[in-house]
Amino acid sequence: MKFGGTSVQDANAIQNVINIVSTRLKEKALVVVSAMSKVTRQLLRLAELAEQGNKEEVLKGIDSLKERHFEVASQLLDKENIETAKTEIAKLLSELQSFLLGISEIRELSDKSQAKILGYGELLSSWIVTLAFNKQGIKAKRLDARELLITNNNYLSAKPDIPLSSKKVKEEIVIGYKEAEVLVIQGFIASSTDGDSTVLGFEGSDYSAAIFGSICNADRVEIWTDVDGICVTDPRVVEKPRSISALSYEEAAEMAYLGARVLHPYTIEPCRAKNIPIYVLNSHNINYTGTIVDNARHEEITALAFRSDICLIRIDLPDFGQVTDALNFISQQFKQYNINISLLNTDTSAIILTADKQESIDEACESIRQKYSLYIEKNKAQISIVGRNISKKTGLIDVINKISPNAELLSIGAKQMNISFVINLEDLDHTINQLYKEV
Ligand code: ADP
Ligand code: ASP
Ligand code: MG
Repeated sequence: MKFGGTSVQDANAIQNVINIVSTRLKEKALVVVSAMSKVTRQLLRLAELAEQGNKEEVLKGIDSLKERHFEVASQLLDKENIETAKTEIAKLLSELQSFLLGISEIRELSDKSQAKILGYGELLSSWIVTLAFNKQGIKAKRLDARELLITNNNYLSAKPDIPLSSKKVKEEIVIGYKEAEVLVIQGFIASSTDGDSTVLGFEGSDYSAAIFGSICNADRVEIWTDVDGICVTDPRVVEKPRSISALSYEEAAEMAYLGARVLHPYTIEPCRAKNIPIYVLNSHNINYTGTIVDNARHEEITALAFRSDICLIRIDLPDFGQVTDALNFISQQFKQYNINISLLNTDTSAIILTADKQESIDEACESIRQKYSLYIEKNKAQISIVGRNISKKTGLIDVINKISPNAELLSIGAKQMNISFVINLEDLDHTINQLYKEV
């Protein structure tokens, strides 16, 4: 059972988590927690401030983290547990403070240091959640994901080593359940084979839950979040969109990869491989039955996913027949900056594609520019209409042409499961709302 940032954002939310899990103790839940909402971003900011040598702001940031976590602990726990919580929170934050001050001295922030800093949110929240169970009379044990989940040393987007992790996860869980009724572990964080802290990438707690679930051959993996499951589109853009009651692993993966952030894209595969159903549930509305993601054949969906962080790049080639070489070169440059291409179209003398990471795109394109004429348009959005047989749905292209006559890169995905196109970012909300009414 994975609880995201908003599900542990304050004392009420955490109490809710305890209530949800407490009715299910017989099922032996492994509770995977995120950092309290916004904490990971705050930690990222502190890492940047430290790199700039801004000790004063770093210290202020640590104080505000301490205040928030102390306050939640005080509201939620009884006297004995508050003491333990405060001691553990203070210990973690003092460790973090020394580390950040060290970075402020040298003014250098490596990926390795950044990963260590980003992990503190989960280390903190998991203490409060564990102690909240204890206060309720439910014996809980806090596990340390860094000791169980082993990854490569791609520190900020680390890849788990499942064979290495499996043994440790299984052992600790068997031991854990001899001592406690419920086990609590952090999402997102892990450690490399050398023992350094790593993270699985932003929003990676869903992925952690899927890995733990898969290693333990869980009956189900539950992703508890702040909306009524997987909806036809993002409730932040369309007011109260329809929830999808069931969809296949492939459709959920397609939605996630194309931008629907309700599930981290990597979450699907570990569950699909072992045929473990994923339930997406709402911790703020426990009466909602949830979206199930599995391999059954469900009613066809038509969902709308989007990405608002992309730019459109056009590369003109000087001669015919250079597409392969040019693509090879472009991929090499993008790889160095972890830039992903999502849509791509070529003809004999031009390549047009969408790329993410707008902040590093100019730097990544410098050497491409030296070889080819290149045009970058920033502040673009990619919209994808997703569904099992979407390419066969008649009339969709007409609808897109009507709503977005200036759509660029209109294309059908390779698995025929999406139709995607690119528009200006400023038109995103309006276009999604129009499409929602029509598809
Ligand atoms: P958590 O902190 O629980 O991991 P996230 O913010 O990562 O939560 O994911 C939940 C959010 O995903 C929702 O608040 C919603 O805005 C967004 N979202 C995007 N697309 C969808 C969709 N198709 N269905 C539901 N939620 C979506
Ligand atoms: N706390 C991490 C983040 O905000 C991981 C997660 O919540 O999934 O990205
Ligand atoms: Mg998330």
